[in-house]
Amino acid sequence: MKNILIDVDDTLTKFLKHRNNLIKKYIKTKNLPYKILDINCTKSAKVANWPIEECINFWQNVGKNAQLKCPTQKNCAEVINKLRETGNKVFIVTARPDIYFEAYKYTKLWLDKNNICYDTLIVGKQDKKQTMIENKIDLVIDDSVSTIISAQELNIKSIIFTTKENKKFMTPVNCTRVKNWRQIENLLKY
Ligand SMILES: [Mg+2]
Repeated sequence: MKNILIDVDDTLTKFLKHRNNLIKKYIKTKNLPYKILDINCTKSAKVANWPIEECINFWQNVGKNAQLKCPTQKNCAEVINKLRETGNKVFIVTARPDIYFEAYKYTKLWLDKNNICYDTLIVGKQDKKQTMIENKIDLVIDDSVSTIISAQELNIKSIIFTTKENKKFMTPVNCTRVKNWRQIENLLKY
Protein backbone atom coordinates (compact mmCIF):
# COMPACT_ATOMS: atom_id res chain seq x y z
CA MET A 1 0.00 0.00 0.00
CA LYS A 2 1.26 3.43 -0.91
CA ASN A 3 0.27 7.00 0.01
CA ILE A 4 0.09 8.76 -3.33
CA LEU A 5 0.04 12.56 -3.73
CA ILE A 6 -1.65 13.67 -6.94
CA ASP A 7 -1.75 17.26 -8.22
CA VAL A 8 -4.85 18.76 -9.90
CA ASP A 9 -4.03 21.28 -12.64
CA ASP A 10 -2.33 19.80 -15.70
CA THR A 11 -2.07 16.45 -13.95
CA LEU A 12 -5.80 15.68 -13.68
CA THR A 13 -7.09 18.67 -15.67
CA LYS A 14 -6.12 19.99 -19.07
CA PHE A 15 -5.80 23.34 -17.39
CA LEU A 16 -3.41 25.52 -19.41
CA LYS A 17 -5.23 25.37 -22.74
CA HIS A 18 -8.63 25.83 -21.12
CA ARG A 19 -7.46 28.74 -18.94
CA ASN A 20 -5.61 30.47 -21.77
CA ASN A 21 -8.72 30.44 -23.94
CA LEU A 22 -10.72 31.94 -21.07
CA ILE A 23 -8.13 34.67 -20.43
CA LYS A 24 -7.94 35.63 -24.13
CA LYS A 25 -11.74 35.78 -24.34
CA TYR A 26 -11.96 37.84 -21.11
CA ILE A 27 -9.42 40.41 -22.36
CA LYS A 28 -11.10 40.65 -25.77
CA THR A 29 -14.71 40.83 -24.52
CA LYS A 30 -13.90 43.53 -21.96
CA ASN A 31 -11.58 45.31 -24.41
CA LEU A 32 -8.81 45.44 -21.79
CA PRO A 33 -5.33 46.78 -22.55
CA TYR A 34 -3.42 43.67 -21.41
CA LYS A 35 -1.13 41.55 -23.55
CA ILE A 36 -0.40 37.86 -23.17
CA LEU A 37 3.21 37.51 -21.97
CA ASP A 38 3.72 33.87 -21.05
CA ILE A 39 1.05 31.52 -22.34
CA ASN A 40 2.71 28.43 -20.80
CA CYS A 41 3.02 29.82 -17.28
CA THR A 42 1.01 27.84 -14.73
CA LYS A 43 0.58 30.94 -12.54
CA SER A 44 -2.42 32.90 -13.85
CA ALA A 45 -1.09 36.15 -12.40
CA LYS A 46 1.90 35.95 -14.76
CA VAL A 47 0.17 35.04 -18.03
CA ALA A 48 -0.82 38.58 -18.99
CA ASN A 49 0.69 41.91 -17.99
CA TRP A 50 -2.23 42.45 -15.64
CA PRO A 51 -2.30 43.51 -11.98
CA ILE A 52 -3.23 40.85 -9.43
CA GLU A 53 -6.62 42.62 -8.87
CA GLU A 54 -7.55 41.99 -12.52
CA CYS A 55 -6.46 38.38 -12.25
CA ILE A 56 -8.69 37.98 -9.16
CA ASN A 57 -11.58 39.67 -11.06
CA PHE A 58 -11.09 37.23 -13.90
CA TRP A 59 -11.29 34.18 -11.64
CA GLN A 60 -14.21 35.45 -9.57
CA ASN A 61 -16.33 36.64 -12.50
CA VAL A 62 -15.46 34.22 -15.28
CA GLY A 63 -13.06 31.58 -14.16
CA LYS A 64 -14.63 29.81 -11.22
CA ASN A 65 -17.66 28.43 -13.06
CA ALA A 66 -15.79 27.96 -16.34
CA GLN A 67 -13.19 26.01 -14.41
CA LEU A 68 -15.82 23.38 -13.61
CA LYS A 69 -15.95 22.67 -17.35
CA CYS A 70 -12.19 22.11 -17.55
CA PRO A 71 -11.55 18.80 -19.36
CA THR A 72 -9.85 15.90 -17.58
CA GLN A 73 -6.70 14.13 -18.67
CA LYS A 74 -7.88 10.96 -20.39
CA ASN A 75 -8.20 7.82 -18.21
CA CYS A 76 -7.19 9.52 -14.94
CA ALA A 77 -10.45 8.62 -13.11
CA GLU A 78 -10.18 4.96 -14.11
CA VAL A 79 -6.50 4.64 -13.12
CA ILE A 80 -7.04 6.40 -9.77
CA ASN A 81 -10.01 4.15 -8.99
CA LYS A 82 -7.84 1.09 -9.62
CA LEU A 83 -5.10 2.53 -7.40
CA ARG A 84 -7.61 2.88 -4.55
CA GLU A 85 -9.18 -0.54 -5.15
CA THR A 86 -5.73 -2.10 -4.79
CA GLY A 87 -5.26 -0.53 -1.34
CA ASN A 88 -3.42 2.69 -2.10
CA LYS A 89 -4.42 5.99 -0.46
CA VAL A 90 -4.90 8.96 -2.78
CA PHE A 91 -4.20 12.49 -1.56
CA ILE A 92 -5.30 15.14 -4.06
CA VAL A 93 -3.17 18.22 -3.33
CA THR A 94 -3.46 21.50 -5.24
CA ALA A 95 -1.82 24.91 -5.05
CA ARG A 96 -5.12 26.59 -6.07
CA PRO A 97 -5.46 29.61 -3.77
CA ASP A 98 -8.67 30.89 -2.14
CA ILE A 99 -8.06 34.42 -3.48
CA TYR A 100 -9.27 33.28 -6.94
CA PHE A 101 -12.28 31.25 -5.76
CA GLU A 102 -13.22 28.93 -2.93
CA ALA A 103 -10.55 26.42 -3.83
CA TYR A 104 -11.83 23.47 -1.78
CA LYS A 105 -15.46 23.85 -2.89
CA TYR A 106 -14.76 24.25 -6.60
CA THR A 107 -12.06 21.59 -6.73
CA LYS A 108 -14.34 19.09 -4.94
CA LEU A 109 -17.21 19.89 -7.33
CA TRP A 110 -14.93 19.30 -10.33
CA LEU A 111 -13.59 15.99 -8.91
CA ASP A 112 -17.12 14.75 -8.12
CA LYS A 113 -18.42 15.80 -11.54
CA ASN A 114 -15.68 13.78 -13.21
CA ASN A 115 -16.00 10.72 -10.92
CA ILE A 116 -12.47 11.07 -9.59
CA CYS A 117 -12.34 9.37 -6.18
CA TYR A 118 -9.80 10.12 -3.46
CA ASP A 119 -9.15 9.76 0.25
CA THR A 120 -8.13 13.33 1.10
CA LEU A 121 -8.35 16.69 -0.70
CA ILE A 122 -5.91 19.43 0.35
CA VAL A 123 -5.94 22.91 -1.26
CA GLY A 124 -3.80 26.08 -1.17
CA LYS A 125 -0.44 24.30 -1.03
CA GLN A 126 2.05 26.26 -3.13
CA ASP A 127 4.77 24.32 -1.35
CA LYS A 128 3.81 20.66 -1.04
CA LYS A 129 6.91 19.50 0.85
CA GLN A 130 5.35 19.71 4.34
CA THR A 131 2.23 17.91 3.04
CA MET A 132 4.47 15.08 1.77
CA ILE A 133 6.08 14.73 5.22
CA GLU A 134 2.85 15.03 7.24
CA ASN A 135 1.03 12.40 5.16
CA LYS A 136 3.97 10.01 4.79
CA ILE A 137 3.75 10.22 1.00
CA ASP A 138 5.48 7.42 -0.96
CA LEU A 139 4.83 8.66 -4.50
CA VAL A 140 4.20 12.09 -6.05
CA ILE A 141 2.44 12.67 -9.38
CA ASP A 142 2.66 16.33 -10.47
CA ASP A 143 3.57 18.60 -13.39
CA SER A 144 5.28 21.19 -11.17
CA VAL A 145 9.08 21.22 -11.28
CA SER A 146 9.32 22.66 -7.74
CA THR A 147 7.12 19.84 -6.37
CA ILE A 148 9.23 17.20 -8.14
CA ILE A 149 12.38 18.80 -6.66
CA SER A 150 10.77 18.71 -3.17
CA ALA A 151 10.01 15.00 -3.63
CA GLN A 152 13.59 14.42 -4.76
CA GLU A 153 14.93 16.20 -1.67
CA LEU A 154 12.83 13.91 0.54
CA ASN A 155 13.91 10.83 -1.44
CA ILE A 156 10.32 10.20 -2.55
CA LYS A 157 9.68 8.67 -5.97
CA SER A 158 7.86 10.90 -8.41
CA ILE A 159 6.19 10.99 -11.78
CA ILE A 160 6.26 14.24 -13.76
CA PHE A 161 3.33 14.89 -16.07
CA THR A 162 4.73 16.57 -19.18
CA THR A 163 3.58 20.11 -20.01
CA LYS A 164 4.97 22.80 -22.31
CA GLU A 165 6.26 24.58 -19.20
CA ASN A 166 8.24 21.64 -17.78
CA LYS A 167 9.33 19.78 -20.92
CA LYS A 168 12.94 21.05 -20.73
CA PHE A 169 13.37 20.07 -17.08
CA MET A 170 15.97 17.31 -16.70
CA THR A 171 14.20 14.45 -14.96
CA PRO A 172 16.04 13.51 -11.72
CA VAL A 173 17.01 9.95 -10.74
CA ASN A 174 13.90 9.18 -8.67
CA CYS A 175 11.51 10.60 -11.24
CA THR A 176 9.87 9.25 -14.41
CA ARG A 177 8.41 11.45 -17.13
CA VAL A 178 5.00 10.56 -18.60
CA LYS A 179 2.60 12.07 -21.11
CA ASN A 180 -0.62 10.33 -20.12
CA TRP A 181 -2.38 8.23 -17.47
CA ARG A 182 -1.98 4.96 -19.39
CA GLN A 183 1.79 5.38 -18.98
CA ILE A 184 1.24 5.90 -15.24
CA GLU A 185 -0.90 2.75 -15.14
CA ASN A 186 1.87 0.75 -16.83
CA LEU A 187 4.50 2.13 -14.46
CA LEU A 188 2.54 1.30 -11.30
CA LYS A 189 0.95 -1.98 -12.35
CA TYR A 190 -1.07 -1.68 -9.14
MG1 LIG B 1 -0.21 21.30 -11.71
